[in-house]
Amino acid sequence: MTVLSNLRLAPQTGTAFLVSRGQMLRIIDPLGEQVSDLTSFSQEDPSEWLSSGRTIDYANTIYLTTGHTLYSNRSRPMWTIVEDTVGRHDFLLTPCSPETFTIIYKTTTHHPSCFQNLVDGLRPFGIAPDAIPTTLNVFMNVEILPSGELRILPPRSCAGDHLLLRAEMDLIVGVTACSAELSNNGSFKPIDVEVHSAPAPASAAPRRDVHAAPASA
Ligand SMILES: [Zn+2]
Repeated sequence: MTVLSNLRLAPQTGTAFLVSRGQMLRIIDPLGEQVSDLTSFSQEDPSEWLSSGRTIDYANTIYLTTGHTLYSNRSRPMWTIVEDTVGRHDFLLTPCSPETFTIIYKTTTHHPSCFQNLVDGLRPFGIAPDAIPTTLNVFMNVEILPSGELRILPPRSCAGDHLLLRAEMDLIVGVTACSAELSNNGSFKPIDVEVHSAPAPASAAPRRDVHAAPASA
């Protein structure tokens, strides 16, 4: 695989870009204990989006990891998780938003948020704020108590941990370095994002040289 692009998201920022079918997206936590929210839309029709509900239905687990397929709202594969060095991510909670900070954190001043960073990043691709769904919260560590109550714990990711996903369709992708104190053990760090070329198909293995066969009359 060849790295086609790589970028470092500064703490509490986000971006959006295109990924083609077959290409790989690697999300890296360079310093540890940092969450990255991921969402995506079909380039062909952006009203097809990455669906938490469909994905959890078909995986029959809320803890998604290597080998799981991430589905769209139309039940088509959008991503396959190819490598996962952490094994704990969240797909239940929405991206942190300005309202997250007023309702949960009781913040009265401006606070950066994944939702606003996704809105800003995805706007040039024609994605409206109301279209942004529940994000795959990469490295976010959410435990569920027997009562159903949620506990947001420090991410299990250490420096250099990553999630590698293969795009199963042409995608518009939004990704952030999360801005919520609780999700990131109280401090904000960068996130590294790489796009890799599609691996060469198996059929592209070197073939025998047909000219080596002796000529026959
Ligand atoms: Zn966030």
